[in-house]
Amino acid sequence: MSSTFHSQVPEIRRWAANQAPVRPEGEFVVYWMTANRRPTFNFSLQRAVEWSQHLKKPLLILEALRRAYPWACQRFHRWAMDGMEDQQKFFASEAVTYYPYLEPAHGDGKGLLESLAERACLVVGDHFPCFFLPQMVARTAERLGVCLELVDSNGLLPLKAAPKTFARAVDFRRYLQKALKPHLLQMPQFNPLKSVELPRLPQELPEYQRWKPGVQFELGDLPGPGPVQERGGFMRADQLVTRFLSERLARYELRSEPSQAVASGFSPYLHWGHLSSHQIFQELIDQEDFQVENWRVQTPGSKEGAWGMSPNAESFLDELITWRELGYNMCHREPDYDRYESLPEWARQSLEEHAGDERPQLYTLQQLEQARTYDEIWNAAQRQLRRDGTIHNYLRMLWGKKILEWSRSPRQALEHMIELNNKYSLDGRNPNSYSGIFWCLGRYDRAWFERDIFGKIRYMSSDSTRRKFKLDGYLTRYGPEPGE
Ligand SMILES: Cc1cc2nc3c(=O)[nH]c(=O)nc-3n(C[C@H](O)[C@H](O)[C@H](O)COP(=O)(O)OP(=O)(O)OC[C@H]3O[C@@H](n4cnc5c(N)ncnc54)[C@H](O)[C@@H]3O)c2cc1C
Repeated sequence: MSSTFHSQVPEIRRWAANQAPVRPEGEFVVYWMTANRRPTFNFSLQRAVEWSQHLKKPLLILEALRRAYPWACQRFHRWAMDGMEDQQKFFASEAVTYYPYLEPAHGDGKGLLESLAERACLVVGDHFPCFFLPQMVARTAERLGVCLELVDSNGLLPLKAAPKTFARAVDFRRYLQKALKPHLLQMPQFNPLKSVELPRLPQELPEYQRWKPGVQFELGDLPGPGPVQERGGFMRADQLVTRFLSERLARYELRSEPSQAVASGFSPYLHWGHLSSHQIFQELIDQEDFQVENWRVQTPGSKEGAWGMSPNAESFLDELITWRELGYNMCHREPDYDRYESLPEWARQSLEEHAGDERPQLYTLQQLEQARTYDEIWNAAQRQLRRDGTIHNYLRMLWGKKILEWSRSPRQALEHMIELNNKYSLDGRNPNSYSGIFWCLGRYDRAWFERDIFGKIRYMSSDSTRRKFKLDGYLTRYGPEPGE
């Protein structure tokens, strides 16, 4: 049987990660779900379904969660398990076998994928350009005796489409306005399993003996931070899309106000793959009555008027597409995206010129972590991070800038920002974690006026934040807890 067939998943979004063959005589197709942890608007799932149909073999979806990885904690595991519970419900009525696996102890999961791959026709996997995932996937690809095909379902622009690493949002925006349209006409299917008939696997797989399937495990011996109140999973993400489009988008211009709940709250769901930017885009253009086929950019290079939609929709899309995918472009192309040396030269030079400037205040990582600074706005933002696993967007910038001001060196500031952001944020360990953190040190920005410590890096202060916004509600909400 031929291994080429007409596919609805664009070629630019898929590639083989190893040289091993597709084995049509295998027992089933495996979709190894590591990043797009959702059943809808998912090019990887769509591709795996296509393979199963082409080879007339059952489809097995493996969603596994390691016990240990950098910053693994109760908070992130609870969030991932919420997602697995949703998927178990969803896939129960579909023509596939969903195999959720939670590693009871570090290392227990070793060999599971390899065991399945020995009997598989091929493995389809997710490409995610950040954190430990690219290295994990590359190492696994070498070990498998069967083809591992990777699929990029990260954003509206396929990662391989961009011809270079963009150093400024304005250039990336201009590029998107020229290049994005054909990709918007190739959307993933809402539910690639809808009306699909596939052969089924037996109820029990031999692997179940050693690697017991399940969506719940004891969080007890995992370190903190503990779970947040909000729930993860694609079903909750779906509700938030509806809420955002019906209640919040019309006031999105107020998103910098800490007391206004108008931002979408999508980033943790986007990070965990519980939500796709394709879905958000599709629902938004339906609401705005926008036709991609008729899209003509009115004012090239500008964010206003880029789409001919309402101003709020345009500024939201600029965040969701230009800013979000700018970070993915960087991580996909630059292996040192998380290193200090990847900062633009002007920024490094300027920061180094001011490395010896006296810091009026220095805080240790522990003091920062415990929100023990003199600055009540900063402390409130840090408490929001600890409690909710997120920080209000505007305050997140201030949060990073103050860490630069209060650290012995810019390198130490970078280390502290990465540690705190990735330890507590549900959306941490993502390309946009590095965009945001490095932005505080000059990435994607221009040189400003010279000042102490910051050099030419853009400065932000708590005093001007206090003058700009009404903060009382926010400061009360994230005030110290009894005993703090
Ligand atoms: C120091 C610092 C650290 C950050 N760490 C992270 C992080 O760990 N993970 C993360 O996803 N974002 C991070 N950001 C970017 C931004 O703050 C969040 O994406 C945004 O606040 C998420 O809230 P929302 O989903 O309600 O955003 P909305 O305003 O509703 O925007 C919708 C989506 O657009 C994207 N987006 C919005 N603002 C930005 C931005 N400035 N840069 C890139 N994409 C954006 C996000 O995917 C977001 O979910 C960081 C920013 C800073 C300054």
